[in-house]
Amino acid sequence: MTQNTFDAPGPMSHLDAPSVIRTKRDGNALSDAAIDWVIDAYTHDRVTDGQMAALLMAIFLKGMSGHEIARWTAAMVASGERFDFSDVGRPTVDKHSTGGVGDKITIPLIPIVMACGGAVPQAAGRGLGHTGGTLDKLESISGFTAEITKPQIHQQLRDLGAAIFAAGELAPADRKIYALRDVTGTTESLPLIASSVMSKKIAEGAAALVLDTKVGSGAFLATEAESRELAATMVALGREHGVATRALLTDMEVPLGRTVGNAVEVAESLDVLAGGGPEDVVELTVALAREMCDAAGLDAVDPAQTLEDGTAMDRFRALIAAQGGDLAAPLPIGAHSETVVAPRGGTMGDIDAMAVGLAVWRLGAGRSAPGERVQFGAGMRIHRRPGEPVTAGETLFTLYSDTPERFGPALSELDGAWRVGDEAPPARPLIIDRIT
Ligand code: URA
Repeated sequence: MTQNTFDAPGPMSHLDAPSVIRTKRDGNALSDAAIDWVIDAYTHDRVTDGQMAALLMAIFLKGMSGHEIARWTAAMVASGERFDFSDVGRPTVDKHSTGGVGDKITIPLIPIVMACGGAVPQAAGRGLGHTGGTLDKLESISGFTAEITKPQIHQQLRDLGAAIFAAGELAPADRKIYALRDVTGTTESLPLIASSVMSKKIAEGAAALVLDTKVGSGAFLATEAESRELAATMVALGREHGVATRALLTDMEVPLGRTVGNAVEVAESLDVLAGGGPEDVVELTVALAREMCDAAGLDAVDPAQTLEDGTAMDRFRALIAAQGGDLAAPLPIGAHSETVVAPRGGTMGDIDAMAVGLAVWRLGAGRSAPGERVQFGAGMRIHRRPGEPVTAGETLFTLYSDTPERFGPALSELDGAWRVGDEAPPARPLIIDRIT
């Protein structure tokens, strides 16, 4: 998008939120000084949530130039610490997804890379909009905590090969902006996604990074062209900050796997670590693990082998135990359930990922106000995936929630989002492209 440059209104101390908002509202580019000021002022509560929400909506509607995105990202990195893990004795590499439905890949992926000899410093996020968050999922494991100290992160990376932590003091500007975007309809914006993902990932200190950029109805951006641009923008941001970054473009037309929610996705991840699990989840997990190992220069162990021989499962158990989690305790499941049955026999067609994401969010797996508690047991099982045979009257979906009044709105989201027909839907590749 071409924009006029609007000079910062005077020295830093004379900047003010209304003029920064008006600048972007009117389609002009924000100056470097304005970006630095507004990120710092919002981080330190000198700009209100209302003002930042207005600015985010203006950015959503008017976009940002490449230069503005780079400056906004750098300002978010500078809002907190930048970790350095160069002394942990293993190559450091991480992965981040731009947000999907049923996207539990990080959970089995981390222990695979641990078993291959890498160290994964994973600054994980919470649910955003219709997509789930790794932290919300893992916190459904009894006792698990991501609130770990910097010395513990260092020690785990050295001794075990991974640590999963809330971004905390890393890019604190993103923590606030992310939570605000989640409840103000401003998530689906290329500049805001690119800067959010990359500020955390640059600050977390991994030497290499693999991005899973989603394409399709369940992705935040509507078209493949926009997802490609997002991937290219993030790869360039990573490189500018010295992080060896590459991206896969992957399909998010339909949910990944057979579960969507919090604890239900942990259970499916354990199936994958036990050598089973849905084919698409295994395929994407292994593909991302191969990219991570390649980016980190690790070639001694085949990632797929670690699922077969149980070494990835062993690493997962050690990691969860180190962070207080008890995998022997039963995973929570919603106190109430509701089913959707097949109106006819035939073949399952495509299942709209966005509709499923919204349905699960309505069941209580996500938030509608910042800081709200999620229901760990809320979620959905998908009994028939696209292309599978269906018998009339069989259960296609089971929905779980602790609050039964949520079933009505969740079922409405699913209306028209799937069909049983006579033919299988057209096959699409799960991995669409690789952006380096
Ligand atoms: N993941 C993030 O960290 N931020 C986004 O905006 C989307 C996905």
